[in-house]
Amino acid sequence: MIDPFGRRIDYLRVSVTDRCNLRCVYCMPAEGLPLVSHDDILRYEEIAEVVREAADLGVTKVRLTGGEPLTRRNIESLIVLLARIDGVRDLAMTTNGTLLAPRAVTLKAAGLMRVNVSLDSVDPDRYAEITRGRCAARDDGTEAPDAGACSAAVRRSPGLKDVLAGIDAALAAGLTPVKLNCVIERSVDEPDARGVADYARRRGLEVRFIPRMDLATGRFGQVVGGDGGACGRCSRLRLTSDGYLRPCLMSDVGFSVRELGPREAISLAVKSKPEAGGVCEKHWIRRIGG
Ligand code: SAM
Ligand code: SF4
Repeated sequence: MIDPFGRRIDYLRVSVTDRCNLRCVYCMPAEGLPLVSHDDILRYEEIAEVVREAADLGVTKVRLTGGEPLTRRNIESLIVLLARIDGVRDLAMTTNGTLLAPRAVTLKAAGLMRVNVSLDSVDPDRYAEITRGRCAARDDGTEAPDAGACSAAVRRSPGLKDVLAGIDAALAAGLTPVKLNCVIERSVDEPDARGVADYARRRGLEVRFIPRMDLATGRFGQVVGGDGGACGRCSRLRLTSDGYLRPCLMSDVGFSVRELGPREAISLAVKSKPEAGGVCEKHWIRRIGG
């Protein structure tokens, strides 16, 4: 598929859930966001149907994201469906890595090819600070606990060691190349980014440094080590967990696959791709998965 600005569209990012077990400071408010209702979330067979149509129209790369994709139950069964689709040559996942260690082997067996793991610091305290530990990340709708309870919860929360174990497990399972996503405030020279770069060098991993996007203004910068933020080379469409095809992360436009059918929604999304991202008022990154 070629969009109105001559760009080849061959990459579909699929957000499988808006839920997450972390509350990264740059992504979600501490108390979380109103969740999409269960009935509105696409079923695995519906997602597979969209991917089948997209592959038929020329999409070759598919990435599962979220929210946190590993919080959706039995994501392996979706991966099995997607891995069978003719034309899908690259099937990847972006994950925070906290739930990856026990799942790496089953994900690989299901047909996942590789993972990108988000890692913003290799300092355990900074990691807990950035991800807000577990203390506010309560999916049961109860209020965030007070500071005392919070520190106990943080001690039990998924933390840096879970992510590093997840990366090791992904490497051992062959979910390779494992790449890291690291959000930076200003520069690749800040201490957290340098720590991640050193760790990546020791482990032989590639890192993409992503300038923190200001979700209030929608401003974003060019990714260092990847194509994100380079509108002239954009090849992506995005499917939200509630079934909208979005032409651009930084736009509020979307086409419902349930109302229009996958093929029509895909082709309208391609035709509506803007030349460059504008300001997104509804902060889709949290729903669309970056
Ligand atoms: N939960 C998974 C994870 O963290 O990898 C997948 C979804 S997350 C929204 C996808 C990517 O978006 C992550 O690498 C995250 O760091 C990035 N991201 C989230 N909010 C961002 C922001 N405000 N600016 C830049 N990147 C952001
Ligand atoms: Fe969750 Fe990923 Fe957002 Fe962090 S960046 S809160 S892990 S969805």
